[in-house]
Amino acid sequence: AKRAGRNTVCFFDPEMQAVVSANAALSSDLRQAWRENQFRIDYQPQVGVDGQMIGVEALLRWLHPQRGMVPPDQFIPAAEETSLIIPIGRWVLDAACAQLAAWARRPDRRHLSIAVNVSVRQFRHPEFVDEVLQVIRQWDIQPNKLKLELTESLLADGIDVTIAKMGSLKDMGVALSLDDFGIGYSSLSYLKRLPLDQLKIDREFVKDILTDANDAAIAKTVIGLAQSLHLDVIAEGVETEEQRDFLEKQGCYSFQGYLFCKPLPIDELEAFIDRSAEM
Ligand code: C2E
Ligand code: CA
Ligand code: CA
Ligand code: CA
Repeated sequence: AKRAGRNTVCFFDPEMQAVVSANAALSSDLRQAWRENQFRIDYQPQVGVDGQMIGVEALLRWLHPQRGMVPPDQFIPAAEETSLIIPIGRWVLDAACAQLAAWARRPDRRHLSIAVNVSVRQFRHPEFVDEVLQVIRQWDIQPNKLKLELTESLLADGIDVTIAKMGSLKDMGVALSLDDFGIGYSSLSYLKRLPLDQLKIDREFVKDILTDANDAAIAKTVIGLAQSLHLDVIAEGVETEEQRDFLEKQGCYSFQGYLFCKPLPIDELEAFIDRSAEM
């Protein structure tokens, strides 16, 4: 008799088959995109209470010649599965450090930091810590201007390994932020042990912060947590003055979101920085 293995199921389930071939198409498109340099990085400003820019987050963009702009949420999972995230992630890191090196030569820009998203797969890679060190040396940048955004899913790998790797990065002087914070499974005792600089409140909780008491409670808790652990806290996805004011009242003094600026291609970002300086 035929074994009903996991692969067999896919072949006989037309819906699954469609998913499988769509993913396969995406994966082969991704490989081609990587070969043909179809990726770009946009930068979204992060601002302080008085609205002045403190840095940016680097956000990957895929400009597909037919599909147009493919949002990262749609291709990063596939890039993780195929390991393409390793070279792509390395490229983002390199580009961010190159940008920091260029800004270091400009008195009106040298205070800016760049936050780079690091996928679990990338963080897990045995060479990751060395690569970060190399890229910092190569571009001769101040390591504290580079901020790595990590997610709680790293903790699934085991807390001790994760803490050790994060510790090596901290020792280099790199800043570490815990991204998408608020939903995950990191207990308070875990959180206390992580060598972090910042917690980032996920947009999911900011979105309805004024109308959903649960979201407001979560945001308040995260801010309180950050304060008691002596960590910075930043809120993402801030779209209105009211959201910003609420967050500020709770003790959050750094923000990112459409209220201030959308993610921009580098030349538009440079123009935005110049305009903000004039104000
Ligand atoms: P994220 O790290 O949570 O990034 C924030 C997302 O919120 C970005 O989506 C940003 O464009 C969007 N956003 C910012 N402000 C607002 C706002 O006010 N309103 C709304 N509605 N959205 C806002 P984006 O650029 O589509 O990126 C999605 C996710 O893809 C990111 O979520 C991050 O997890 C991942 N990603 C992006 N670039 C990279 C990368 O270079 N490497 C890795 N591993 N992941 C990346
Ligand atoms: Ca992020
Ligand atoms: Ca988020
Ligand atoms: Ca996210």
